Parts: sequence; structure tokens; C-alpha cells
Amino acid sequence: MAHQVTLIPGDGIGPEIMEAALRVLEATGVAFDWERFDKIGTSALDEYDDPLPDHILESIRSNKTALKGPVTTPVGEGFESVNVQIRQELELYANVRPCKTLPGVETPFDDIDLIIFRENTEGLYAGIENYDERLEIADSIARVTRSGSERIIRFCFEYAKKHGREKVTLAHKANILKISTGLFLKIGEEIAPEYEGELEFEDRIIDNMAMQMVMYPDQYDCVVTTNLFGDILSDLGAGLVGGLGVTAGANIGDDAAVFEAVHGSAPDIAGEGKANPTAVLRSAAMMLEHLDEQPAADAIECAVEGAYADGSVLTPDVGGNASTMEFAEHLADRISDQIS
Ligand code: NAD
Repeated sequence: MAHQVTLIPGDGIGPEIMEAALRVLEATGVAFDWERFDKIGTSALDEYDDPLPDHILESIRSNKTALKGPVTTPVGEGFESVNVQIRQELELYANVRPCKTLPGVETPFDDIDLIIFRENTEGLYAGIENYDERLEIADSIARVTRSGSERIIRFCFEYAKKHGREKVTLAHKANILKISTGLFLKIGEEIAPEYEGELEFEDRIIDNMAMQMVMYPDQYDCVVTTNLFGDILSDLGAGLVGGLGVTAGANIGDDAAVFEAVHGSAPDIAGEGKANPTAVLRSAAMMLEHLDEQPAADAIECAVEGAYADGSVLTPDVGGNASTMEFAEHLADRISDQIS
């Protein structure tokens, strides 16, 4: 049975990296029935007068799974980010960002393997903002709810247990933001005893956590935190293992999941055929795992690790001179060799 999945290539380098991802997915032999939407963001605004038309959300709701490329958001003015809208409309509350060392990619550390779990729908990104023109005062409210905190913290513990991880670290600022992130910490402390004997639990104040992650990243395993802190820590984690071009991401809710590269649409190199598809490919591997296609997910990870360790066919951003599609063909060959 083919998996029915919504496909959103996005804009900028999105269509190029998605073509590469489709070639590599084809090599795994897993069958997909793609429901494809090429118009989103600016192109959808032109065609449908809406950057995120309802038919895209309906497709994700009905297929429950989507593979998505980056979508450009106008800076300062214009429409709200469709990426944020998708996460909020579909309640994709868990942003999962694995940060794992890739052999051959030069970084300050050799053996990093940690996962950031970011609450994706509330906190300072809840959209509760106010500007008092007379007093010239801007307010943004960080909304932390019991139900929102419970579901992301529990998600992190369950994921850690299922994947044989050892420790959960909860990052907060409960010394200063005593009420909002204090609630998040309190709920973490309530849930942790349910996993006693299976998973260690500790907490860290966010500023210390940032320093610890840079100095001693091997001390961390699964890190769960609120929206803004998670946004920053997950990019810090990506920086530790080679940057946004190689880091996967998933946005997961109870009813749907969207897998996407964490980088943006890279307008500076769009159309040049030299974008690195590794991030979207590793997101596609996370999607395969989500769809219970673990051997195919492992085959992609293994091909990516092999290609980087070998280093002869890589895209320019990581020191090679292969085009996006040459790199994809190379990975497809590696996967075919593994399967045969
Ligand atoms: P960006 O990630 O697009 O680019 C930052 C730098 O990294 C650029 O120099 C770019 O060339 C390079 N880069 C990024 N991905 C690459 C890849 N796969 N291969 C090679 N090089 C790569 O960040 P930005 O410039 O801040 O954002 C551009 C646009 O993307 C903005 O409109 C932003 O809102 C949007 N964006 C979308 C998403 C998403 O769709 N989830 C995420 C982040 C940013």
C-alpha cells in the first residue's frame, strides 16, 4: 500500500531540494501517493488571495503526514509566516530537532547526539501581542498552559523511552519568569517520577543550558523546553553539528505531522542547482520512521553518513562541487547498493 502524503516543495531552493528528496525516496523502494501543492506563500497569495489556502491544510489533515520545503516570509510587513500558521492550525505541538555529528563535517566536537524538543504552539509565540501607541509600549505575552506543557513534556519522555535514550533535561528560566516557565518546570517535575528507573531527569536554567551545550554537549541527551528557548537552542544544536543545511526537523501533533528542513528558502542561491538537500532528506528519513518504514529511514541515514565520511560527492556549502541532483543520485546509488 502506498503512503498517502501531502507534498509541499515550497519556494526559493525548496523545489530543487524536494526533487532531490523524491529521487532518494524513490531509491528506498517505499511507495508514496503524493498529493502535491506547488503554490504556497507568495505564489498562493497571487493565485488564491491567501498564502495558506484551506485546501493545503485540509490535505494535511486528511493525509496526516506532509513533507515540506521552506517557504519565504516577507520581513517586517506582509503576510504572517505560513510555517508558523501550519504548526498552530494543526496543533503540531512538538518540534523535534535531532543534532547528531556527521562524519567528515568539521565541528568542534566529534560525537554529539542530542535531540531538542521544543514546544511549538504557545509560549512567547502564542501571538498575544499589543502595542499602546500613546505610551509607545509593546507587550508580548508568554502563554504557558498546563495542557500544552504536559503534552510536550510527555511526548519527550515517551520518545526518549521508545528510542532507548537515557536522560531528559528540562530547560527553563523559572528563577525570573517564575509563573510561566515556573509552571513548565513544575509539570516536568510532576511527570518525571513516572519514568523513574527508565530515564534520568534534570533541569537547567536556560542561560546556563546554552553555555553547557556549547562546552559539554556530550552531557545532554533529550532536551525539552518552551517555544522561544527551544527555537534558539535548536539552532545552537544545529550549529554544533555542521549548521542548518544538514539538520532535520519534524513538527508533530496528535493528528498530523509535518516534516521539513529547518533552513529557509535561501534566495541567494535559489535556482543555481547547488543547494544542499541533506536537511530535507534527513527530515524525510524521520517521516519514514513515523510511517513505520524504519529500514528505509535507516538506509537514508546510512547513505548520508557514508557520503559525508567518503567526502568525494558533496555540495559546495560543505566543501564539495557536486550539484544538488548529483548528490541525490550519489545517495540513491548508495541506497541501491545497500538494498541489493
Ligand atoms: P536561510 O536558511 O534561507 O539561509 C541562510 C544562509 O544559509 C544562506 O546563505 C543560504 O544560502 C544558506 N543555506 C540555507 N539552506 C541551505 C541549503 N540547503 N544548502 C546550502 N545553503 C543553504 O535563512 P534566511 O536567509 O534567514 O531566510 C530566507 C527565507 O526563508 C526568509 O523568508 C525566511 O522567513 C524563510 N524561512 C523559512 C523557513 C521554513 O519554511 N520553515 C525556515 C526559516 C526561514
